[in-house]
Amino acid sequence: MGLGGLARWGRDLIDAVFPRVCEVCGATLVEGEDIMCLQCLIDLPRTSLHSDNFNAIHERLAGRAPIERAGAFFYYYRGNPYTRLIHKAKYNNLPAIGRKLGALYAKEIVGDGFFDGIDMIIPVPLHWMKQLRRGYNQSREIARGMAEVTSLPVGDNLTAAKGHSTQTRKNSFDRWLNAQNIYQVVRRSELEGRHLLIVDDVITTGATLLACCQAIKKAAPTAKISVAALSLTRLS
Ligand SMILES: [Zn+2]
Repeated sequence: MGLGGLARWGRDLIDAVFPRVCEVCGATLVEGEDIMCLQCLIDLPRTSLHSDNFNAIHERLAGRAPIERAGAFFYYYRGNPYTRLIHKAKYNNLPAIGRKLGALYAKEIVGDGFFDGIDMIIPVPLHWMKQLRRGYNQSREIARGMAEVTSLPVGDNLTAAKGHSTQTRKNSFDRWLNAQNIYQVVRRSELEGRHLLIVDDVITTGATLLACCQAIKKAAPTAKISVAALSLTRLS
C-alpha cells in the first residue's frame, strides 16, 4: 500500500468510527461532501450581494467608510439552521469550519471578479487574550480559506488593542463607540496604495468593520478597502 492508499485507508477508518455529518442538518455526509450535505448547500440562504456596487453592506457602512466591494456568503437570522455553522466556527473549537466555508465562498465568487485587484486579505483581529482562550481567530480561518482559493496573502496588519465587552446588549451607537480605537494597524507601509479585503465572520451593525476601515484609513490613507464576511444579519 502506497502512502496515498494508506492515507485513504486511514480516512475511511476515521469516517467509519466518527461518521462525518452535515453541520447544518446532521445527515451523514457522503464522498465529495464536506461541512454540509448537498441539499443544505443548495438551500443555503445566499445573499448574492458580492457583485452589486452598492448593496446592503455598503448601506450599513454608508457615508462613514468608503468601501469598494462588499460581500457576505449567507444571511444570518434567528431560527435559521445555518447559524449553527457560525456558532461552531466560533465557539466549538472547530477552526476547520471557518476555513472550509471561506474557501467555499471564495470559489463561488472568484469567477465574478470579486478578488480582482485585491492585494491582501486582512482578518478582523481578536484580542490576544480571547484568542488564547479560544485557540484561534475564526476570521483568520475564514481568510485562510479564501487564500487557499485565490493564492492571496493573509496579513495580520490589524491588531485588537484592548478587549471589548460582549456587544450583544448594546445598541448600534454604543457598539460603534465601543469599537472605536480598538483596532490598530501594524506595519502600515505594507498597506499604502494596496487594495485590502477585510474579512469577518458576521456583519451585524457593521460597527466592527467600520472601526477596522477607519483604523486602516487613518494609518494608510491611500489604501483601498473591500469587505467580506461569511454571514450578514437580516435587519427585521
Ligand atoms: Zn444537511
